[in-house]
This record gives sequence, C-alpha cells and structure tokens, in this order.
Amino acid sequence: MNEAVKSVVEYREISKSFGDLEVLHSIDLDIRPGEKVAIIGPSGSGKTTLGRLLMTLEEPTSGTIKVDGEYLWHKEVGGKLVRADEKHLHKVRGSIGMVFQHFNLFPHMTIMRNVTEAPIRVLGKSKKEAEQEAMAMLEKVGLSDKADNYPSQLSGGQKQRVAIARALVMHPKVMVFDEVTSALDPELVGEVLEVIKDIAREGDMAMLLITHEMDFAYEVADKVIFTDGGYIVEQGPPQQIFENPESDRLQSFISRFR
Ligand code: ADP
Repeated sequence: MNEAVKSVVEYREISKSFGDLEVLHSIDLDIRPGEKVAIIGPSGSGKTTLGRLLMTLEEPTSGTIKVDGEYLWHKEVGGKLVRADEKHLHKVRGSIGMVFQHFNLFPHMTIMRNVTEAPIRVLGKSKKEAEQEAMAMLEKVGLSDKADNYPSQLSGGQKQRVAIARALVMHPKVMVFDEVTSALDPELVGEVLEVIKDIAREGDMAMLLITHEMDFAYEVADKVIFTDGGYIVEQGPPQQIFENPESDRLQSFISRFR
C-alpha cells in the first residue's frame, strides 16, 4: 500500500488500564481510507476495548488516537496537545459510525424514525430529505417494507440491519462493527454478514470489524489483526494470517476454527 496515503485512523502508543490491570499495551494501528480491518483473537485479548476507544466509549490511559487528522481526546493548539472539550469530541465523533452487539435501537420509535433521528437532529437535514435517504439505506439492507414497524416487531437480524442503516446515513469516515453477530441466533448471522459484505464491496468507507467469524474476516478484510493478551501479535493480509500464521499463538488460535 502507498505509504503516502494518510491514515483515516491512527492509534499511537495506546495503552489502557482498568484499575491496576493494563489490558492494552502501547498499541499502534493504522486504518487507511477505505481499508477494511478485521480484529480477531481470543476472548479477553482486548479486541472490544480497541474498538470502544475508537468509538470514544473508553478513554486511553496513555497514547493518542486520530480520526481523519483530528485528535479524539486532545486537540492541537500551537503545536501542543491540549485536552479537548466536548464540542471537539462531538465533531470528531461525527466521522465514526458504530454498530454494537446489542443493536441499541430506540424501542419507542418506528424503524424510519430510528434511522432519520440523527440526520435531522445532528446534521440538520429536513424530514423529507432524511426520510428519502433512510428509505434508500433501508432498501440497501433489505428492510424498506419495515419502515413503519417498531423494533420489537423485528427479528434480531433485522434489528441489526436497521442499526447498520442508521449508522450509514451519517456517512462516517470509518465504521466500527463490534461483534455485531455475537448476540444473534445462528440462523440470523448470515443475513447480517451479507449486508456488511455488500457495504464493504462498495468500497470507500473504512471499517474496523471485531469478529469471531473467521470466514467472514477472511473474505471481507484487507488486513487482519490478531490480538492476544493486549498486544497485536501479528497482522497482515488475510491469506497470510489464515494460511501462513507465523506465531505459535496465532497457529493455535486458527487451528481451533479448522
Ligand atoms: P475481547 O474483546 O478480546 O474479549 P476485551 O477488550 O473485552 O477483550 O477485554 C480485555 C480485558 O479487559 C479483559 O481482561 C477484560 O476483563 C478487561 N475489561 C474490559 N472492560 C473492562 C471494564 N470496563 N472494567 C474492567 N475490566 C475490563
């Protein structure tokens, strides 16, 4: 990849502790514009914490994260890093789309309102414009016929597809998918992964995919990151990671899925 291309996400020397327990140790990680990066690794290895830092749901203990050239927790003033105010964080957050394991749809709103709420409130779009775009996104995820339903009337897979549409209408620079199929019944996993694959194929949005689905990671990712014990142990293109793992830890992790 061309080194001159600026990363859309940069983690630099990111460490994170919960109390006395350091769970991430000086992580460097880059995501290029449009790049699809999958994070795999054993339970407790730090995958979700890496994602939550980018989603601004956790603050690093040390290190910095930049999204589209802007610092998340700090801003640059006269060449120095100073702590950012909520306004700055709010602005940078607008570049980051988030889809969670547990959908987090607004239960009292129709599907249409779930998808149009942020474009109207945050982006200041008119109701008509927001609804047109929401309908196009709902079509993309195969749910345009559910616009007037409420979340409780949908299956888990359908709810997750709404959550994806809701993130997409904000046109983020990067989307974080945090174990989005882990809470689904097995028969519903495929439809959600297919939607994500379709979006990935369209190309220009960067994605960070935290996943236990190895076939999916192989198929969709440009780069796979293997974490263990709070370190990035190995990273590379899927062929290299899955077919030619170097470290014992990755070899043993992958052998469990064969
Ligand atoms: P993974 O996603 O790979 O399963 P996590 O990022 O969820 O790993 O967790 C990494 C480590 O951090 C684990 O030891 C976990 O118990 C710990 N951890 C995560 N969140 C918290 C928290 N809010 N408080 C205390 N420990 C946490």
